[in-house]
Amino acid sequence: MHFWDTSFHVNATFVKVIGVHPEVGLLLLAVASGLALWWPARTEPVWRWASLGTLLWGMQAAVWLLERQGGLEASLTPSGVLLFAAALTWAATLRQLRLYEPPRLSLALLPFVLAALVTALSGLPDRSSQMVWLTDLLPVLLALPLLEAALHGQAGESRLVWGLGLIFKAGGSWALALGWPPSGFVYLVWALGFVLIGWGGYLEATETRLGKGLLGFVLGSLLGSLVLLGWPSQVVHPLHSAVLVGWGYVALVALGGVGWGVYQRIIKAERQLELWINLLESLSTKTQSTQNLTPQGVLHSVMDGLRPLYGNLAGIEVRSDVTIRAGQSGPYVYTFELALDTPTEGRLYFSSAPKDTRRLEALAPLLTERLRLSLTLNEWRSKAYTDPLTGLLNRRGFERQLQRLIRLAGERNKPITLALLDLDRFKQVNDTYGHPVGDKLLKQLAEVLHKASRSDDLAVRLGGEEFALVLFGADLEDAYRVLERIQSEVRALQVSPIAWQLSISVGLAGGEIPASMATVQRWLEQADQALYKAKQAGRDRIHPVLIAKD
Ligand code: GH3
Ligand code: MG
Ligand code: MG
Repeated sequence: MHFWDTSFHVNATFVKVIGVHPEVGLLLLAVASGLALWWPARTEPVWRWASLGTLLWGMQAAVWLLERQGGLEASLTPSGVLLFAAALTWAATLRQLRLYEPPRLSLALLPFVLAALVTALSGLPDRSSQMVWLTDLLPVLLALPLLEAALHGQAGESRLVWGLGLIFKAGGSWALALGWPPSGFVYLVWALGFVLIGWGGYLEATETRLGKGLLGFVLGSLLGSLVLLGWPSQVVHPLHSAVLVGWGYVALVALGGVGWGVYQRIIKAERQLELWINLLESLSTKTQSTQNLTPQGVLHSVMDGLRPLYGNLAGIEVRSDVTIRAGQSGPYVYTFELALDTPTEGRLYFSSAPKDTRRLEALAPLLTERLRLSLTLNEWRSKAYTDPLTGLLNRRGFERQLQRLIRLAGERNKPITLALLDLDRFKQVNDTYGHPVGDKLLKQLAEVLHKASRSDDLAVRLGGEEFALVLFGADLEDAYRVLERIQSEVRALQVSPIAWQLSISVGLAGGEIPASMATVQRWLEQADQALYKAKQAGRDRIHPVLIAKD
């Protein structure tokens, strides 16, 4: 009972104080607003200055009350100094916020700002009023271009809310400077200004979406201030009508702006969704169906998928033992880990700072998974196509690459020559020194073949000690010369402890542009026969076969 009494008393006193001195209420609102900004400022330090600025504004309202009660008359009052400091601290925050886009739509508020400027310079007789007016104009001016991003859906609509708050706050000061009575409308817009600044700023700093409730509050308060403004008893000065018109204009523009911002947000969300769907599609289909699934091919298809989302994407890279890259590197890098056998890092390169890093974070697991799958698949495939002992293509890889080479030969009008190679008396190496020495010899021969082949040639271990070499762009004569060189290199091989000179026998066929796989199949048989003849003729020799045209 007692407690209720006291607390009621306190409440009543509180209401009385605010009723008599609304500045106290303003101070409390500004403190609440400042704290609302201070909270997210722990992680978003940009907002610290805004928080401080809002507190200073509250103090200014309270000090101004004291000055009036003390009858202070000076050109530079403490409240003036506080106002100035507040504007500067707010400017510090506004200067650091991202612009995204040059102002266009937000220029609609410029007539209001210009009118405010003209009014200040022509309508206000004393310097201190002019100073107040211009000081409050500074944050509004700096905020104007920032509002553009919110109108395009790049920054949240919450930016429009605190932007409007700044205009409300300035509007209150201006009304005072014009001799408006310090009551009603003036205090309403001032209070609304503080609320909108704190609330909108908090929402932007914490990247929270503007809820329907707040939107309703903003629109309601705009209309409310208009109704109060239009109260005839309020208009006591000829300039007040100008303020009325200006205020009406701001209200219209702000209403349109909020509507436009929400509309843009919806449009943007739809566009983003479409891009995401396309990306998912291209990641899941393209990277799997690509015929020639090279790691580069995988990266290129991932890059194609990402391009619509990131126009500034320069390249994509995967780094482990080797580095594979599609596109170019760039000054801005985003990295993510790919969980593979060997530690592997994925990198996205951008030519300019990527706009939406939160989206990148959401994208990373998806990219990681896609790249990981493709690269593992690729690794598995390359295992299936290469001979583990020599690292050359195996028979399966040979057949696969042969198709590509036949197509390439047709496209570029280039002949192909096929060579079948067989080590002479290899069994003897095995029998005399054992299999490991035989294996060592096979590896060395593979090395010779690998070095002799150019990028479009194929070096193959068909099985055992039989090898094939497909020379791209070589006719029989060219091929003969290449094989002669290989032959002499084999003769010169020193594979300890083999005590005799090593040699190979070779059968050559082809030397023309193959019509189809069947042609090459025939060349293979002919080369095999030629090899047989070379063996029969005493080994260590090259036997070409001249083939009649198809
Ligand atoms: P020729 O001059 O007639 O070719 O005589 P050759 O001894 O090379 O005869 P052949 O082609 O019949 O011998 C093939 C031998 O190659 C038989 C097998 O022991 C050996 N061989 C097959 N695969 C491997 C392998 O992977 N490693 C080793 N060390 N030997 C192998
Ligand atoms: Mg042999
Ligand atoms: Mg053999």
